[in-house]
Amino acid sequence: MQDVLNIRNYFPGLSQKVHGKPLVYFDNAATTHRLQSVIDAYSDLIISSNGNVHRSPHYLGQMATKSFENTRDKVQEFIHAKHRHEIIFTRGTTEAINLVAFSYGETFINEGDEIIVSEMEHHSNIVPWQMMCERKGAILKVIPFDDEGNLLLDEYDSLLTERTKLVAVTAISNVLGTINPIEKIIEKAHRKGAHVLIDGAQAIVHKKINIQEINCDFFAFSAHKMYGPTGVGVLYGKEDLLEQMQPYQGGGEMISEVTFKETTYGNLPTKFEAGTPDFTSVASFSKAIDFINSIDLSACISHENKLLRYAEEKLKNIEGIMFYGTSANKASLLSFTIEGMHPFDTATLIDKLGFAIRTGRMCADPIMDHYGVQSMMRISFAPYNTFEEIDQFYVALLRIREMFS
Ligand code: PMP
Repeated sequence: MQDVLNIRNYFPGLSQKVHGKPLVYFDNAATTHRLQSVIDAYSDLIISSNGNVHRSPHYLGQMATKSFENTRDKVQEFIHAKHRHEIIFTRGTTEAINLVAFSYGETFINEGDEIIVSEMEHHSNIVPWQMMCERKGAILKVIPFDDEGNLLLDEYDSLLTERTKLVAVTAISNVLGTINPIEKIIEKAHRKGAHVLIDGAQAIVHKKINIQEINCDFFAFSAHKMYGPTGVGVLYGKEDLLEQMQPYQGGGEMISEVTFKETTYGNLPTKFEAGTPDFTSVASFSKAIDFINSIDLSACISHENKLLRYAEEKLKNIEGIMFYGTSANKASLLSFTIEGMHPFDTATLIDKLGFAIRTGRMCADPIMDHYGVQSMMRISFAPYNTFEEIDQFYVALLRIREMFS
């Protein structure tokens, strides 16, 4: 792969100091750092292409529309979708899932229908389905996982029934790191006639995604977890489903014609993109895709895996440490607790030493309940992280441990 130090140069945020200490950024599963090229594109576009997309006939509006729509093409190509109008821009994964839960729910779900999620979902892939089930009188079922963090596929088989309408699972858990066998999950659901939504928020930078090969019906992800801007997400949906689904929000640009008697809706994708989108951020997102296309993703994933193994080997020497998520098929994040060290206090103290880590319930209460813990700490890696940073983290943890004892 490209030299790690070389890759770091593309991310200006990594070379800063926090609390007077060089930053060690281990919170990539929450959000990655932004590329300089994304920042440059944003600050250029906000001046040179500052006209409202799809509406303004003037030069700046045309430039904005062009860069916005070019990004749609780029996303289509990046995930290998069949049609460009299957790409809907949202504010993030959360909004993409809410869109499906509402619009698919309104169109296809009746009382007594069943939705399946897994026990390891992020709240954003649980709560929208609960809301939809409540609205429509549908039933939510849950695929459990074992203590290593593997989904119990036999249980999944028995949850799938003739009444299952949709299965919504994450491709990679943001707490356990488990890489779920989504192809198998999708195939089983399709055999029963159910549709599948994949939460790709974590997977999008840790896996090559070919939507047509995966053959899911919906796929959601966020630009900010792939070195891109905040406030931008993508919903991929299969054309025939999106065509049939009710719009999610009403407003400008999503219509064909409006009268007080009747309103007709526009075609895909605008039917699902009401109002002015964050078009400058969307356009700058294309630079993040360019970057990912330019690097050797397999080499990056291999580097991240080495970091993970190295961190596990190092940290397991700490007395009282407990890891959560020990599946053999795991992405580069490590969640843990250490006896006698409160996660929040530890994260606060270690922040003072320059280390950015995640702590808390990680928007996944059911996972905390599974293990009977209140909270955890998590370190999560990107290709720009180094073995030296892990060494420094280990030393810092030991230092804090001494403070606690
Ligand atoms: N799903 C998973 C697996 C996630 O990790 C996250 C972000 N932590 C989300 C959904 C929600 O993403 P966003 O906050 O960007 O909408």
